[in-house]
Amino acid sequence: MDVQQNARAASPTVESEDLNPYNIAQKQFDAAAVHVAELPDGLRNWLRGTTRLVKVEFPVECDDGTVRTFAGYRALHSRVRGPGKGGIRYHPDVNGDEVRALASWMTWKCAVADIPFGGAKGGIVCDPKKLSSNELRRITRRFVVELGDTIGPYSDIPAPDVNTTAETMAWIYDTYDMMHPGKNNLPVVTGKPVYLGGSLGRNEATARGCLFVTKRAIEEGAVPGLDSLEGATIVIQGYGNAGAISARLFTDAGARVIAVSDSTGGVLAEEGIDPDAALLHKKQTGSVVGMPGTKNITNAELLHVPCDVLIPAAFENQIRADNVDGVSTKVIAEAANGPTTPAADEALFARGIPVLPDILTNSGGVTVSYFEWVQNNENEHWGEDLVNDKLRHKMEAATDAVLDMQQEIRDRRKANVDLRTSAFALAIKRVARVAMNRGIWP
Ligand code: NAD
Repeated sequence: MDVQQNARAASPTVESEDLNPYNIAQKQFDAAAVHVAELPDGLRNWLRGTTRLVKVEFPVECDDGTVRTFAGYRALHSRVRGPGKGGIRYHPDVNGDEVRALASWMTWKCAVADIPFGGAKGGIVCDPKKLSSNELRRITRRFVVELGDTIGPYSDIPAPDVNTTAETMAWIYDTYDMMHPGKNNLPVVTGKPVYLGGSLGRNEATARGCLFVTKRAIEEGAVPGLDSLEGATIVIQGYGNAGAISARLFTDAGARVIAVSDSTGGVLAEEGIDPDAALLHKKQTGSVVGMPGTKNITNAELLHVPCDVLIPAAFENQIRADNVDGVSTKVIAEAANGPTTPAADEALFARGIPVLPDILTNSGGVTVSYFEWVQNNENEHWGEDLVNDKLRHKMEAATDAVLDMQQEIRDRRKANVDLRTSAFALAIKRVARVAMNRGIWP
């Protein structure tokens, strides 16, 4: 195991905008930390960094008999409020800075949702589209062995993220269980298949949480010009777990999905897109593009389609300085992590377009992951209605707390800040309070 403090940096720029996600995460932290009176300087320096970053490299025998070396990461940002928690992503662009950023966002997300976890994240540099299921299983198992006790049911608990599924989580559980026989190891990972200790409602939880947060924000008057989801037009970038299920749930809530996209492009239909037909078309052809009754558009065009709610549900850095001016929506609901850059945030705030930030809006996934972990520890299996009801309570409370924090900063500090800064300030306050209450060890 090779512990690295300085991972391979990913610092792409678009017209001089810094798109390194770790730099962006620190910038977001800094913007909020100035509004948190309870945060001592030394603690601020620690919380804006990374507690641990592990990089492993390991060989895997491929189906054709060749041997390839893969690299994987696991970052731990904080365990102040509980064990590290965060997904595992399989993608060619995975790098140390990306997982460090995502790990820190997990800490703030768990604090906003008020669940007793810290923040972690991991990933393997690979292209799952070019690997067989057997190869992915061998890669996953070897990664878990290399991580050793970096992960554990009470220290750091993985979950699904981009290109990983319930099946991947089953392989992680099985491998960890082989390494630690004779114990209840189910809580080592969440997002497992329901018949293997997974929670009902987990698969839909990120999208359902996004719906609950968006609805609550609208009801609380936080979205100028929009008082209901009934008949509202929705545009969704990314048609995987977060995006496709959001399409279904927002449609069920009375809204009209008019454009969706995936990595190959997008489709538009003003009269509305049937979410299930889009999913079927994607399953049959590998893409939403070309769906009958729709017009093909590019991903760049999709972000500029006039709508009431724009849901980025793919990757980081999608709404940036160079394309934000064309965005024409009443609200952005961030189902993805890090889709809006600081420059775009600034421009949207100036135009009065609220951004419901990722650390609030996609926290439904980790919230039901927490419910799964509790059920695993108690050998319980809750009904889906109970899970969804508990999720709704958590999401509404989190939305209200973020809106209250925005008001508090306005009243007490005479500063007008956006909802991302408010959510970060709330989270930093909650983490700092626990850290100082526990006392700095030794
Ligand atoms: P996924 O792999 O299920 O789906 C990702 C989708 O994005 C796919 O449809 C893919 O084709 C599409 N995509 C990839 N590149 C794109 C591009 N350039 N333009 C448009 N679409 C593109 O992943 P997911 O689990 O839905 O995750 C999506 C986002 O949501 C990520 O930012 C992830 O971190 C975040 N998220 C996921 C969860 C979860 O529970 N799955 C929880 C919280 C946050």
